[in-house]
Formats: sequence, C-alpha cells, structure tokens
Amino acid sequence: MIARLCHPFVNGPWLLLSVLLFFAGCKSSEYKAYVYDPVGATLTEDKPLDAYHRRTIGFAEDGVWFTNEFAGARLNDVVRVAPFEYELLVAAENTPINNSAWYGFGVGRGGVPGLEGAPGFDDVSISGKGAEDGLREVADSVELTLRIKYEGGAHRYQPTIMERVDSEAHYIVRQIDSLQTRIIWQGVQNNPGLEIRVSLSQHPVLITAQRLETTHSLQDTLQAWQNLFPFVRIDTAGLSKEGRPIPGLTISQNPTVKRPTLMVIGRQHPPEVPGYEVMRSFLRRFAANDSLAKTFREAFHVVAIPMANPDGVDRGHWRHNARGVDLNRDWINFNQQETQVARRYFQEKATSLGQPVYAIDFHSTQIHLMYPIDASIPLQGPAISTPWFEHLLAPSTGYPFDVVIEPFDTSGPVAKNWFWRAFGIDALTYEVSDLSTPAQNDKAGVIAAESLMQTLLDALD
Ligand SMILES: [Zn+2]
Repeated sequence: MIARLCHPFVNGPWLLLSVLLFFAGCKSSEYKAYVYDPVGATLTEDKPLDAYHRRTIGFAEDGVWFTNEFAGARLNDVVRVAPFEYELLVAAENTPINNSAWYGFGVGRGGVPGLEGAPGFDDVSISGKGAEDGLREVADSVELTLRIKYEGGAHRYQPTIMERVDSEAHYIVRQIDSLQTRIIWQGVQNNPGLEIRVSLSQHPVLITAQRLETTHSLQDTLQAWQNLFPFVRIDTAGLSKEGRPIPGLTISQNPTVKRPTLMVIGRQHPPEVPGYEVMRSFLRRFAANDSLAKTFREAFHVVAIPMANPDGVDRGHWRHNARGVDLNRDWINFNQQETQVARRYFQEKATSLGQPVYAIDFHSTQIHLMYPIDASIPLQGPAISTPWFEHLLAPSTGYPFDVVIEPFDTSGPVAKNWFWRAFGIDALTYEVSDLSTPAQNDKAGVIAAESLMQTLLDALD
C-alpha cells in the first residue's frame, strides 16, 4: 500500500537514492492525504474488472503447460520465446490500483497434470491444449526460464514454489532462493519484472507470489480449531458479492455473559499473506487451554473476520474485491457488500457479546509497521496500543521483528477508524513485512497475543 510512488526498484544510479527516500520519506501520511493511493483508487463505487480468462495453455514443442485454473491463481497470458523460455503476462484486476503485484500459476509437463488434491486446489480442473499435446516420454527434468511481465504494477513479491513430490498429491513448499530469480527491466518505462529459473521434474509445481492461502485453507483451519478448542465457534458473517461465505469466529468462554470484546479483521487485501499468518497464529493463541488464555477468556471475548475479501483471494486479485474496489477505503461510504457484512457482524457481536475494547486490522507491506490512532485523539475506552507496544517490543518478549510505529488521525475511510467512530475505542492497523517467513509470523502471532492478553488484563484492573 505504500509501494506505487515509493517503489525501491528504480534503474541505474537512482536505485540507492530511491531506497533511501523510500525508507526516509514514504511512511508518514499513508491514510491522511492518500498520497500513496493512485488517483481514483479510493473511490468505492463498483468498477469493472479487466478481462481475465481461466485456462490451461500447452506448448507441444517443449511438452510444457501452464495453468491458472485454481483458486488464488493469477496468470493472464504465456508466450514461448525460445525452447523452454517463456514470457508470462500478469495484470492487475483493474486500475488504478496500489501496487501489490500478485501472481500464481501451475506449470508442468506431459499429459496428465493432476493438480487435484493440492492444498487449496480442490476446484482445479485441467483441460485444453496442454492435456492433449503432452509428451509421451519425458526426461528427468528440464530447466525453464520464466519471465514475468506485470501490467498495472511492478515486481513486489518473491515467489513461493509448491511441488508435488509423490502420487499421493502430497505437496512440499519451498521459497525460491534469490539465485534462481532476478529482477528484469521491461517496456518503455523500464518497469521491474521478474525472471525465475526453475528445474521442472515430472511433478507439476505451483508458483505463487506468497504462500497460497485461499478460502479453502481457511475453512480447513477454522474447522480444525472448532474441533480442537471448545471455546471456538465458527459462523458465517455473510456472503461476498460472488456468494462466497465470509467466515466469522468467536472465542468465548461463556457467550451468554457480556464482556469487553476484542475485534479482529484480516485479509481485506488478498496478497497480504504475512499479515494473515500473524493473525492466524495470534487468534489461535486466545483459544489455548493454558492459564493465561483461560484468565483472559474469563474477562474478554474475541470476535474475528479473518478473511474479509474471499472473492479477491480466490480470484488471485492484487488488492480489490469482485467489484474492483479496495475494501479498506470503504469504511465510511460502505458501498461494498463485504464491508456491509463486516460492519453488521461486528455491530451484532457488540450487542450480543459486549462493548468492544480494542480492534486490530491485519495487513502486510514492505516493512513492519504499526499504524495506531494518534494519542491526541479522544477515546471512550482505555488506550491500548501504547501500553501494548511498550510490553510487546520489550526485548524480554522475543518478538521477532523491529517495528516502526506511525500514529494517524482517524479521518481516513479504513477499518481501524470505523472501529473508533462506531465504538469510540482504540484501534490499530498491524502491518507485517512482505519478507517475513511463516515461522517468524507464527512466533510473532503467539507473542503478540500473549502480550495483548497481559495488556488488556492490566487495563481492566
Ligand atoms: Zn493492506
């Protein structure tokens, strides 16, 4: 969200200067004046999406196929430029858009791609030219060079590769190291793209801009929690514009007793998986059976909408919902179905469970950032962010990230400010770095939850 005007990838001698400017000058006014939002990106009436086709494209000369026929995929076109060398076009769902250039595609060899059963890919159906033209005999592996060209943005995310390692549809996930990728420069504007070199065995691989976390994997997670933890209740907050359920989650020792309620929302922006991973680990910690969580649940409830934009996630969007709109700019006008659903859900839970005490909206961006409400803004409840950060960022907690704290006023149309407007409470936009690893994010979520439980219990005294 702070990328477009501040993107560090600039050609030649400007590179170092632009990196310095990026860190020095581009953090201070994200929401206040929307200097990072392209003109028109904050308007939240329905906008048309650009044409996009789900398909599998096969190249008989190499016996290689590409597919975008699975949830979370984004691949617009493929051109073969030389033997085993391909140019891939990846375009934003519509423009103007903040740069968050998500991509996701499957690539494989031979006639039977067989992606069925991969995590999050149960709706995959492979068909078309690739299936017909497959090689009958394939060598052990081939080296592919893939060059991604972006339309509507520029390179942002290092790829994650998921490879099927046996016929049981078991997949392993690995990050492609930087030796196998490099930035390339493309077009008249010298726009940064990405070159990936990948060794393709007879197993298909999925290459995505971050870890692939779709509506399907969230359902698995929530189902597992509900089975594991007696205090977790899953319901449906409402439906997205395309009819996907927007799951709601309550963590509550006794929902018939009114208690101050912690409210959490995530995944308004589909590619922001690191923030989602921290949120997932964070929420899970509140459901545990240890004494801290138990004490906390005897004093507070937790309510969450962990994936507010399921259409955008499963469509492989860079940022917007199925109506081409940035949901986290719609918390004043509420033009979109998903923000209406979230608002109604949080309002209903506030009535049934108890007055909210604090709210967190999880995202990711280039660095670790916290956007709290400025301390000069009056609150009807306790100030939480300031004492929490003091606790969380003390060396003794082992929180794995260095964090920049950047307070904002409450004028912008983002979720955090709606919680303040609706309930008078303190609220936070919690940004995790694009580059953080799943292990770091799991750890950060646990520590953040423990620290917040302590902070809220202290605030109650
Ligand atoms: Zn975001």
